Amino acid sequence: MVENMIIETNSPEETKQVGFKIGQEAKPGTVYALLGDLGVGKTIFTKGVAEGLGITEPINSPTFTIVQEYENGRLPFYHFDVYRIGDVEEMDEIGFDDYVYGDGMCLIEWANLIEEILPENTKTITIEKDLEKGFDYRKITIE
Ligand code: ADP
Ligand code: MG
Repeated sequence: MVENMIIETNSPEETKQVGFKIGQEAKPGTVYALLGDLGVGKTIFTKGVAEGLGITEPINSPTFTIVQEYENGRLPFYHFDVYRIGDVEEMDEIGFDDYVYGDGMCLIEWANLIEEILPENTKTITIEKDLEKGFDYRKITIE
């Protein structure tokens, strides 16, 4: 299992590959919080996850819909971007609990903004830069 580890990458392709493995291994009901600043590689990582789940549709950022659903993979995949929510109550309105306590895999970008309503067993993936190690260096912490 890709769990409780730190992975260092030096290209977008490598970061995507880490996501791919997580998608391949994901079990029903897994919730991942995906954290990291703008431009760090969250979207690239998510594309890898989707491919790992066997999803063939293109992955678009769900910024204007909060959640984007993909049903044609090995498990349903629910990709959230909660960056623009004003209040956690907006998550109730979209039926957040049905997603996170359902049988799919959830991946939530900017999950720190809804920390108080995340399920207890949410796993966290943090992507960080370290410019001293090069422009393309990323540290991916999974816990
Ligand atoms: P985010 O969704 O976090 O805003 P994106 O995935 O859209 O970020 O973009 C990440 C950018 O960083 C891309 O332009 C990508 O080419 C670049 N990049 C450089 N090195 C890496 C790396 N090791 N992992 C991921 N992205 C990288
Ligand atoms: Mg993005």
